[in-house]
Amino acid sequence: MTSAPKAGIVVVGSLNADLTIYCDRLPQPGETVHGNGFAVNPGGKSANQAVAASKLGGQVSLIGAVGEDPNGTMLLDSTASAGVDVSRVRRSDVATGVAVISVDAGGENSIIISAGANGTLRPSDVTSDAFQDAAVVCLCLEVGIDTVTAAAQAGHDAGATVLLNLSPYAEVPEVLAGLSDVLLVNAHEASLFLGAEADIPDAQAGVEAWEPVRSQFADRGLQRVLVTLGAHGSVVLDSLARGTEDQITRIAPTRVSAIDTTGAGDAFTGAVAARLAAGESLADAASFASVAAALAATKKGTQAAYPGVADVEQLRG
Ligand code: ATP
Repeated sequence: MTSAPKAGIVVVGSLNADLTIYCDRLPQPGETVHGNGFAVNPGGKSANQAVAASKLGGQVSLIGAVGEDPNGTMLLDSTASAGVDVSRVRRSDVATGVAVISVDAGGENSIIISAGANGTLRPSDVTSDAFQDAAVVCLCLEVGIDTVTAAAQAGHDAGATVLLNLSPYAEVPEVLAGLSDVLLVNAHEASLFLGAEADIPDAQAGVEAWEPVRSQFADRGLQRVLVTLGAHGSVVLDSLARGTEDQITRIAPTRVSAIDTTGAGDAFTGAVAARLAAGESLADAASFASVAAALAATKKGTQAAYPGVADVEQLRG
């Protein structure tokens, strides 16, 4: 009897309480502006990505750390109620991580993070038994790079697809880049990763303009890269795709009226993880994720704004 393919998603990383203030425009350095609303919501890139993937039908388990405080309890409750297995989220004597977020009237945001308990997550928290059913391991850089690397190694050893969201940007050790099957970056992170020689095309640029970027990533050992372009959609750079014409796929944006794009990137990442775990191609997963992330931008907040499969299918028509 052949066993069913693995379908699990293991997300390793951060949980933060998002303290969000809404304002007409973001303040300049040294300037104070009046806000017009305030909310405390569950967040953190990894918690968001886990919730996004779970709401889209993924079997998700989260490895992380929160404090023994009300924010920690809120985060455990919110992720668990979205269907995420939080049995590997450890309580720490360090306070839960916090993100202070400002969102302007156009939905643009600026964010400062205090890592708190996320900073206590160690490679020893990443044990191989957690990866037994993993088809996809989803990582970002809001926890220590040693822990991210240990998780990438554990995912690789388990035969899972390692999806690394290079956010917030940090230098990636060669070993971590080598373990990453799919790199997910926005245009800014793409340009930081590739360095001075990189010429990231204009957001509206067509497929041919992306060929040098695909080639530069491939030269750095990254064969499969997703570049997100905010309201302009995304680009799949897949050097492993069979025909050269399939190596670059431009995913058109889904037109919505965006209210709050905070966490749209995490919705995108979680959706890609869910669809890869379900066996979809990278380009198909990105196309689905584009709709899921656009829907997430139509509502305030992050996790509560994330759609289910039916919402995405309805918008896709
Ligand atoms: P953030 O860190 O703010 O969550 P990000 O920089 O990681 O975002 P973006 O490139 O801004 O990621 O957005 C991710 C994806 O979400 C985009 O590729 C796109 O598919 C979708 N998206 C974001 N903003 C919009 C928008 N205004 N309209 C439609 N789709 C959007």
